[in-house]
Order: sequence, then C-alpha cells, then structure tokens
Amino acid sequence: MRYISTRGQAPALNFEDVLLAGLASDGGLYVPENLPRFTQEEIASWAGLPYHELAFRVMRPFVTGSIPDADFKKILEETYSTSEQGVFAHSAVAPLRQLSGNEWVLELFHGPTLAFKDFALQLLGRLLDYVLAKRNERVVIMGATSGDTGSAAIEGCKACENVDIFIMHPHNRVSEVQRRQMTTILGDNIHNIAIEGNFDDCQEMVKDSFADQGFLKGTRLVAVNSINWARIMAQIVYYFHAALQLGGPARSIAFSVPTGNFGDIFAGYLARNMGLPISQLIVATNRNDILHRFMSGNQYVKETLHPTLSPSMDIMVSSNFERLLFDLHGRNGAAIAELMANFKQGGGFSVEEGRWAEARKLFDSLAVDDAQTCETITDVFNECGELLDPHTAIGVRAARECRRSLATPMVILGTAHPVKFPEAVEKAGVGQAPALPAHLADLFEREERCTVLANDLKTVQAFVAQHGNRGKPL
Ligand SMILES: *Cc1c(COP(=O)(O)O)cnc(C)c1O
Repeated sequence: MRYISTRGQAPALNFEDVLLAGLASDGGLYVPENLPRFTQEEIASWAGLPYHELAFRVMRPFVTGSIPDADFKKILEETYSTSEQGVFAHSAVAPLRQLSGNEWVLELFHGPTLAFKDFALQLLGRLLDYVLAKRNERVVIMGATSGDTGSAAIEGCKACENVDIFIMHPHNRVSEVQRRQMTTILGDNIHNIAIEGNFDDCQEMVKDSFADQGFLKGTRLVAVNSINWARIMAQIVYYFHAALQLGGPARSIAFSVPTGNFGDIFAGYLARNMGLPISQLIVATNRNDILHRFMSGNQYVKETLHPTLSPSMDIMVSSNFERLLFDLHGRNGAAIAELMANFKQGGGFSVEEGRWAEARKLFDSLAVDDAQTCETITDVFNECGELLDPHTAIGVRAARECRRSLATPMVILGTAHPVKFPEAVEKAGVGQAPALPAHLADLFEREERCTVLANDLKTVQAFVAQHGNRGKPL
C-alpha cells in the first residue's frame, strides 16, 4: 500500500514510513492511494470474529508490503487482548449498550485510560516498536496534551524498547485524574513535563521542535497526535465491529460521533467507502463548532476557543478535515494546497455548492452547548440508568436531533468513561460520579513522577536531549 499527501507535492510513502512521518513535507496529510474495498459477502463472513481477528481483516490491506501477516496478527492479538492481564477490561473489547429502541452506545472506554484513544494508541506504540526494532533505530516522541491524548500515548508506549516519550501538560491546569493517569506510569523512557504555561504554549513548543530538530542530535522525532495515519486506520475497525453486531452488512447502520479534530468520524467515512453500508454519519460538536458550521452552512471559518465541559473536543480548527476536503475535490492536491493557504492567511472558505451537497448526502451535524450536554446526561440517566460522559452525551443529543430513519439502528460512539469527567456529571445533578474501575482503583495512592519546567523552548529541548535515551543523554 502506498500513501499520498493531500497537497500533492510530497513523495508517496509506504506504511512504515507513514507511521514515522507525521505531517507530509508539503504540509499535507497522508492518505491511502487506493482504499481497499470489501464485498458484502466478505464482510458478512466476518460475523462473530473476535475483535483482534476482525481488526486483522480490516487493516491488513493498509500494512501490506510493510508487515508480514503473521507478525501483524500477533501485534493485534496483544493490542486487543482481554484476558486477566489484557489491555481491555471487557471481553467484547468494544461492547454495545442499548439506550432505547434501536439506539446504542458503542463503549470505547474499556482500555487502560478509559477513552477511545486507547484503540489507536495501544496499536501505534506496538507498531512503532516493531518497525524500529527491524530498522535498529530509536525515536523520541514529543506531544502536548490538555488531558486524554497524553495518558493514552504514554500507556501505548510504556513497553516500547525503542521509544522515549515526552508529554507536556499545562502545570496545574489538567484534572487530578488526568494528571495521575499520566504521571503514575513509571518507566525510564517516560517523561512527564508540567509546563508553567497553558496548553497552547505546550503545543507551540512541540511544533517548534518539529520545525528545528537539531537538539535531537540525529534522533528522529515522531508525532502521535490525531493526524497520524495509523491512528485513523485503527479506528476504522470498530465501525465494522458495531455494524456486524447489529445485522450489518445486510442492513445499513447510522453513527453519531462526538468529534473535534474529525479523526474518529473520518474513520467512519472510510469504513463506508470500504464497503460497509453506513447510511448516515452525524458530526456532533460542542460550542467549538467549526465542523457544524461547515456541514450546516458551507462555512469553514476559525473562531475563538470556548472552554467547555467536554474539553477533549475544544478545538478551533479540525486537523483531519483536510482529508475529507481532498476527496470532495476529486483528490486534487493543488486545489487543497490553495484552499489551506487561504485559510492560513486568516480567511475562511466555502467549497463549491456541488461538492458541499456531496458531503451532505452522508453527513449531518449538530453543535451542543454545556447546558444541553448536562440535560442529555440527566435525560438518559432517568430513562435507563446509564451515566454518560459529556462527550458521549453530545453524541446522543445529536443522534436524537439529526436522525433520518428510526428503522435504521443508530450507534453513538461512547468516547470516554464518565469517571474521567466528574464536573459534568456533577452539574447534571444525577448523583455521584461512579467509582474508578478496578485497574485504576488505587490511582490516588500511586507514586507520581513529573518535572515542572519553565515555559521556555530551550529549557524543554535541553531536558529532552538530556533524557531522551532511556533517561540518559542522546
Ligand atoms: C479525543 C476525544 C474526542 C474527539 O476525537 P476526534 O479525533 O477529534 O474525533 C472525543 N471524545 C473524547 C473523550 C476524546 O478523548
């Protein structure tokens, strides 16, 4: 499988190089040159497979030529394991829970950090280590987090022999649960940095480090944010998994997806293009609604950031949206380069009416504010006793308002466990947040390891250079 850039100028790469690449050299994002397509018979024959075996069948075409089947199978079996010491705490890996007639939540929060990002980052860590061992290389990962991504990335990389991971979070500005989920994972290749600044400061330092990597003395820097192709790839699998449980591919399924960066929902769009009958995809955003403004009014315009009760979707621009735009423009890289150049200069954009109408055949959208989020948490709790996290609640709200057909099963992606966001649960007034699951029960007693650093690029880079080789200097 070869991968091409959405801006048409960077060289095509194979899977292995895309895994290590991050952004393409022309500023674009990598996408498969040709998407695999499965027949209905083929998809139907996968009914009842354990999650890791389904994952093998769905993702195999994407890694062909880079990872032999037997090795890929083994990696997937480890990643999506559910035995006592397994990665996922539920034997179905991604169970479906019914809320009401023909309405389901796909619970993607049974992984180590209790959010859907584990599905991708558990795999990414193992793939990186596999590829690096083969090449006899080591890499450094730098990432910025306001909460969820950091812990999922650290959990995914903690066992990697060939990776040192540095995660920056804004000092005193993440919740205690979120901080402890990062700082209590101990290892000589794990480095938590609390920056005396805000999230944007952290992110800026990551960007600047990618732009000028001299301080790494030749060691490669790798990105694990949601633009990494391997993360999108891993998320395609659970759309197939959910559909097969509910009578697919013989019948169509609708999905509602809480999204900020358009990563998770783009995976659903790909599942459909690979042959899975999906009749509707609902883009569910919070007040940071650039995606909703595009889907409902063909306007893609940056606005100021609003902090919300669903912080993992607090974004101003959607980094993966460019991948959809590329398809909407007949995969014309030059057109995307021009569009994004305009956007960068502060202009927003609309696309040609026909292209927008094409997107609207499949996508609907809704922006949900904090009050409506709490109202939905309360409603669902009163209806059936399920406690939703605020991100999932936004998905449920959007599903109920945008649904096209009551006869089609509606699946809402449950992106996080409610215990991670006690503030929203409290505001919704439905009693106490639930207890931490067994594997995190002693989270508040565990030893923490974290270094507080000044909001200064040179200081951070010196720290990375000093510790980037399993705690020793590069
Ligand atoms: C990251 C995250 C999202 C948004 O994911 P996208 O990649 O932007 O679609 C939604 N919910 C939770 C809980 C998250 O951690």
